[in-house]
Amino acid sequence: MMKVIKVNSFFDGTGYVKKPAEIVIDGASISSVRLSHSKRKTSSLNARFATPAFIDSHIHIAGYSKSIMTVNLTGVTTIEELKRRLKNAPKVSGWVLGRGWESSHLDFIPNKNILDKIFPDTPCSLRSRCGHSLWINSAALNTASITAKTKPPNGGLIEQDEKGDLTGILKENAITLVERVAPSLSESSTFSKAMKVAFKNLVSYGIGAICVVAEPNDVENIRKANPKFPMRILVEEKPSKILSLDEFDFDGVKLYKDGALGNSGALMSRPYAGTKNFGIEVISDSELEKELLTSLGRVKIFAVHAIGDLAVETVVRLFARHSEEAQKKKTILRVEHFQTASIITIRRAGRFNIIASVQPIQQYGDVEAAKQRLKTRARLMYRLRSMLDAGVKLAFGTDAPVEPPDTWRNIQAALDIGKEGVYADESISLLEAMKGYTSSAALASNFPALGRIKKGASATIALYDEDPFEYVLKGKDLKELRPVSVIVEGETLL
Ligand SMILES: [Zn+2]
Repeated sequence: MMKVIKVNSFFDGTGYVKKPAEIVIDGASISSVRLSHSKRKTSSLNARFATPAFIDSHIHIAGYSKSIMTVNLTGVTTIEELKRRLKNAPKVSGWVLGRGWESSHLDFIPNKNILDKIFPDTPCSLRSRCGHSLWINSAALNTASITAKTKPPNGGLIEQDEKGDLTGILKENAITLVERVAPSLSESSTFSKAMKVAFKNLVSYGIGAICVVAEPNDVENIRKANPKFPMRILVEEKPSKILSLDEFDFDGVKLYKDGALGNSGALMSRPYAGTKNFGIEVISDSELEKELLTSLGRVKIFAVHAIGDLAVETVVRLFARHSEEAQKKKTILRVEHFQTASIITIRRAGRFNIIASVQPIQQYGDVEAAKQRLKTRARLMYRLRSMLDAGVKLAFGTDAPVEPPDTWRNIQAALDIGKEGVYADESISLLEAMKGYTSSAALASNFPALGRIKKGASATIALYDEDPFEYVLKGKDLKELRPVSVIVEGETLL
């Protein structure tokens, strides 16, 4: 069925067209884009502005759905507030589960004793905002049989205080010790309902496709929840473990080089301020190289999480060494986050076609930790301007549930980098940010038909009653912008 959309202006994925136009949709694709100056009313769909629906290049859709099912601790700063949120927490198979605390926002140091007072007998497990730390109580430690003598798995840390007592904080791979015994939300009867809410939320933000990061056992549920929504799936597992399996049908893999700033686990070239801690190396360089070589030509996307400047540097060096072969074999090389980097590393990434999958929205939540732990090195964070100048392709995402999948807050964040005086002025333009959410994101996630408004492209479009380019000219904040309609592969979802 043909559909005609009339707009006053539009963004086509690469440029802004400030002219009335008619976008004609035939089935799942765009059959023509006609520039017309007539503003006459017809029975067709009308809006002021159109853009390709956004692609979130890095989202944990299962994790985001689970975050809808558990206690939200975002914004907690005091013990009183923590108690208030946890007081009426629903129990999941006898456990209390939550997510979203950020150590640099707390006016106390998280410790199992605090949780023991609230839950003396009920196991309680709370994920940090970045997802790289777990804060648990004694009941949870007992259930997981973790004692002061327990050896953490490789790339993991079981935190102890000066006296050698467990603090109840587990980092990186040590989290699996609790995951093994905690109830699985994926198996809960409400999980599929939460997934439906999650997808609805995405559409409400103008998102029409996603590149999902997922643990292997969540993939089936994700596919079942919304089989029609355009998705690429990066599985969090070592390629050497899964590529030989017949049933391997993911689009790519994602591995971790280091931790996150939130848990002082990001791998830095110099220690965190006032400490001897350089962060956590989750996988060695040689092992990562082995996994990359196993993957080239066999997966579409090979992605590595790197946040600290040393982690980003080593991953970029590795990718640079194999970029020619990767291009020949059509494997996309992506650095997830690319959060702290020297200009040399950024330029190398530009020269060797390495994609930076970035989440500017996280700058707000990171600012305290950056100030306290990195001091002036915070100026090496979120260098979007330098990356674009060096020719690095940016793919925008939110890393939800680390942040909500809030597209316009993410774009506003990209326009605002450096305004708070902690990061350097690395702001980019609205046009550049929108490319990062559309045409560049399509490239990074191997969606050849998405991210453009042009003849032959997928009819995956978001319509707005406001033109964001006019918004910016008027100095208005973009955060509140929401689409009035979202069409995904020809189907109206909003
Ligand atoms: Zn992530």
